[in-house]
Amino acid sequence: MKFVSTRALNNPKEYTAAEVIKQGLAPDGGLFVPTEIPALTEADLDRLAEMTYPQRAAEIMGLYLTDYTREELLSAANAAYGAPKFPEATPTPITKVGDLELLELWHGPTSAFKDMALQIMPHLLSMALTKTGETRDALILVATSGDTGKAALEGYADVPRVKIHVFYPTDGVSRIQKKQMATQQGSNVNVTAIYGNFDDAQNGVKAIFADAEMASLLDKEGLFLSSANSINWGRLVPQVVYYISAYCDLMNAGRLQKGDLMDVVVPTGNFGNIFACCLAKRMGLPVGKMICASNQNNVLTDFINNGVYDRRRTFYQTVSPSMDILISSNLERLLWLVAGPEKCASYMEALREDGVYAVDSAVLEAVQKEFVAYFCDEALTKNVLREFYEQKKYLADTHTAVALSAAMRHRRANEEDNRTILVASTASPYKFSPAVLEALGKAVPEDGFEALRSLQKISGVPAPERLAALEALEDRFTEVISAGDMKEAVLAFARS
Ligand SMILES: *Cc1c(COP(=O)(O)O)cnc(C)c1O
Repeated sequence: MKFVSTRALNNPKEYTAAEVIKQGLAPDGGLFVPTEIPALTEADLDRLAEMTYPQRAAEIMGLYLTDYTREELLSAANAAYGAPKFPEATPTPITKVGDLELLELWHGPTSAFKDMALQIMPHLLSMALTKTGETRDALILVATSGDTGKAALEGYADVPRVKIHVFYPTDGVSRIQKKQMATQQGSNVNVTAIYGNFDDAQNGVKAIFADAEMASLLDKEGLFLSSANSINWGRLVPQVVYYISAYCDLMNAGRLQKGDLMDVVVPTGNFGNIFACCLAKRMGLPVGKMICASNQNNVLTDFINNGVYDRRRTFYQTVSPSMDILISSNLERLLWLVAGPEKCASYMEALREDGVYAVDSAVLEAVQKEFVAYFCDEALTKNVLREFYEQKKYLADTHTAVALSAAMRHRRANEEDNRTILVASTASPYKFSPAVLEALGKAVPEDGFEALRSLQKISGVPAPERLAALEALEDRFTEVISAGDMKEAVLAFARS
């Protein structure tokens, strides 16, 4: 299997999976995409259904990462998804709530779905350095709206031949997320807060990647840049696994029959998680519609409903901060698939130049064939969270609540088809305790950890141990800088 950049037009250069995982972003600023999408047959599904999660991961990822052996992938998957990291019997349990199937993707070490990819990515990168004969070490740069940063730090901490530097918007993450990052252990990690929002952090990181002078300065230090954001193919492939795995689990449990269509609702920010589902569908998984659920930052809802992507709008800080994004990077991959490289390149250029683009009706129709979109404002997010807790005894986090709202609207609009609806549940409610308490109409203690304890007392649902233990840890990283100083900060870390 070979990969090309979304921005390469004629005779695109082809890359191996190891090269793609090593580089993160293509040299021309585009995203790596596979030249073909491997097929998944019904017989494959039967085979996968018999396997454990790590075995499924090795099989499915092996279809894309053809320059890795099954043994390599299986040992990586065992290390990533085994009991020390994911203590539950299965890493991705599905809870039936009313007539919805909730795929809980947050039972890993940092209590958010990003662990699903970021626990295995470091292993893939390590192997990629050897496979490509790389002599330098990797410097991973991450821009985070909260969850990616901690998950990446946790995945890469003390991994040999890797350094990692994480940037986050200082007022754009929760108290607990901040504490998770500020206290990160490991001799190869650095964390810096910036003034601004997530897009400022992401643009800063993208600019450093595109900076030739930076590359040569780092080269002198024996380093090259790589990314852990969901623009990296190594993030997406592990995410394809859990949609296929969920289908197998539902089949095994008799909650759907092989061949039945399932609709999938995904709370969306950078379009990575939902794009992974799109890949699974295109491989042959019986997925009906994919429902893109957005918060008040509803740029994707507008795009999917009317074909105009317009980022020139107010940016809202919401109770679901990991979805507070106005430039959904992975949408570029979908446009490349649906509209082809030429149109995709012109849309991306228009987005850069004017902050807006409109797709033609053929492209819009193709998008709408696969995707439906809803958004949910702050009041509705909280109402839905409360409703699920009070009426269905399910304590959801604020991101999952956005998806639950979309799921209910999608159900109401398609009552007659009675399809299985799988909802991606992306974080533990305890990661966002103050917002969850507020939604439940309870008093919200000033301090994030007080809030966690209070939520635990009210709901009787135990908080993940790792979150509860954070409070006692000492902060290691407290610096806040302006986005313009990110390059200097990276250089200083590289030389340390
Ligand atoms: C990152 C994140 C999302 C959004 O996922 P994308 O892949 O960026 O669309 C949703 N919920 C939570 C809790 C997240 O951490």
